[in-house]
Amino acid sequence: MSETTQPMQPIVSGEDYVASLRGRSLRVFLFGELVPEPVDHPMIRPSINAVAETYDLAMREPDLASANSHITADRVNRFLHIAMTRDDVVLQNKMQRRLGQLTGTCFQRCVGMDALNSLFSVTFEIDETHNTEYHYRLKEFIAEMQRLNLVIGGAMTDVKGDRSLAPHQQADPDLFVHVVERTDDGVYISGAKAHQTGCLNSHWLIVMPTMRLTDNDKDYAIVGAVPVDAEGITYIYGRQSCDTRSMEGGEIDQGNARYGGQEAMVILDRVFIPNELIFMDGEVEFAAMLVERFTCYHRRSYVCKSGVGDVLIGAAAQIAEYNGVENASHIKDKIVEMTHLNETIYATGIASSYQSKPTQSGAYINDDMIANVCKHHVTKIPYQISRFAQDLAGGLVVTMPSEQDLRSEEVGKLLDKYLKGREGVSTESRVRILRLIENMTLGRNAVGYLTESMHGAGSPQAQRIQIARQMQTDLKKTLARELAGIDQRNRDNLTTELTDYLGKVFDTDV
Ligand SMILES: Cc1cc2nc3c(=O)[nH]c(=O)nc-3n(C[C@H](O)[C@H](O)[C@H](O)COP(=O)(O)OP(=O)(O)OC[C@H]3O[C@@H](n4cnc5c(N)ncnc54)[C@H](O)[C@@H]3O)c2cc1C
Ligand code: SF4
Repeated sequence: MSETTQPMQPIVSGEDYVASLRGRSLRVFLFGELVPEPVDHPMIRPSINAVAETYDLAMREPDLASANSHITADRVNRFLHIAMTRDDVVLQNKMQRRLGQLTGTCFQRCVGMDALNSLFSVTFEIDETHNTEYHYRLKEFIAEMQRLNLVIGGAMTDVKGDRSLAPHQQADPDLFVHVVERTDDGVYISGAKAHQTGCLNSHWLIVMPTMRLTDNDKDYAIVGAVPVDAEGITYIYGRQSCDTRSMEGGEIDQGNARYGGQEAMVILDRVFIPNELIFMDGEVEFAAMLVERFTCYHRRSYVCKSGVGDVLIGAAAQIAEYNGVENASHIKDKIVEMTHLNETIYATGIASSYQSKPTQSGAYINDDMIANVCKHHVTKIPYQISRFAQDLAGGLVVTMPSEQDLRSEEVGKLLDKYLKGREGVSTESRVRILRLIENMTLGRNAVGYLTESMHGAGSPQAQRIQIARQMQTDLKKTLARELAGIDQRNRDNLTTELTDYLGKVFDTDV
């Protein structure tokens, strides 16, 4: 499929996966220097461990994290599976919550899953309209990804320059990724994608447009698959709060030394995409459909944050216990409130998945309105839960001395004595939980738990726009006027409109 250092044998375990990332000649910059082997870099490795967990989970719990492919008929990792039933969509959410619980961070594989699923239906519909062969090409590509069990990154967000201008209006055309040359064999693309989750930890990137496009933006309407180690790609690693703690030795101060997320800027300088890996080229009218379907899937994928929230709630309850205050009524009430908030994320995400419907391609897609409500909750609730966690933690969460001081011959004993909580609990346990709370609310994993919750899959206003588009205020005004005795509506007509709003009462295809 490509002349790069892609794995030749299927990846099974997390260990196989880590091995598959070694020896690729990626051009990765971190702190202004080329990284010789990202797998061994202490700042990068926790993000690789998080993706590795997606493989190990599929081995431990195959019903949850793998599925039967309708393309190859083989058992495949759920992150590479096209959802052909409502249960498939629901199970994505259950797997995401579980992985959030197990890693306490962003495990990076959902962007690719949601890109494949949205492209599956969009390419089908482009082909129906334009007699193209994108859907066939995509199926071939997916079959190969499923066979080798690879990681796919979804590269949608352009750097965007002046946000008030369309791609073709920008002073610098490279501010949105676009085709710079066409040959008989394919296209060359240039530009940059920002905030790319797990891009170095992927084997392939799927490049997609980030917004609705017009006829003037034809060269920007490009979707294609690119190997992560393709010629012409430079990665500039995104640093995270407290990230250099992983380079200090020790692990306590990292809070969660094993797992972390990853984002980088991806700069594409005349990167070639052969025809067989192009899934849209110039069909500008389908760019909005792709963005909307991708964000529809991805905005309810954010139930991952309810899994991460489970960890933070646990940490808050644990520190309260270590501090001897777990039976205080306000503490119990705050844990209840945190749980209520956390389950609100999960409830809306999973409800959206349960409301899935088939697209023309046969793939199922979740409910867009409720997906947007889910993601909009996610832009707020993790901040509220974090506030409670810091409340229960006490000020030590930000004033605690370092691991080196804890281990110091001179002051270690003093800290052991004066940082003690409840009798029978070691000082180190108390410090470790506090560091975890710091990690999730201020440190490396606050990237995933807080700011990614804000902007990932679109900033809050993007959800409000989608909610406004679908909220049918006129229908609701009709209901009010009827009950207030202002209008007399034929109930049969009303029933039809209301059914459109809620969907069928029963769907027998589940
Ligand atoms: C941790 C993290 C991981 C991510 N992972 C991925 C990924 O894997 N793949 C991917 O493709 N993307 C990813 N994203 C990108 C994410 O989708 C974007 O951050 C999001 O769409 C917002 O874009 P932006 O960051 O450029 O913010 P901006 O566009 O700069 O937005 C800043 C503010 O300006 C407002 N604004 C922007 N444009 C306009 C306008 N035209 N009119 C009025 N107001 C406007 C926004 O509403 C917001 O309030 C990730 C983001 C984060 C933070
Ligand atoms: S933010 Fe959540 S949904 Fe997005 S890739 Fe990370 S874990 Fe998956």
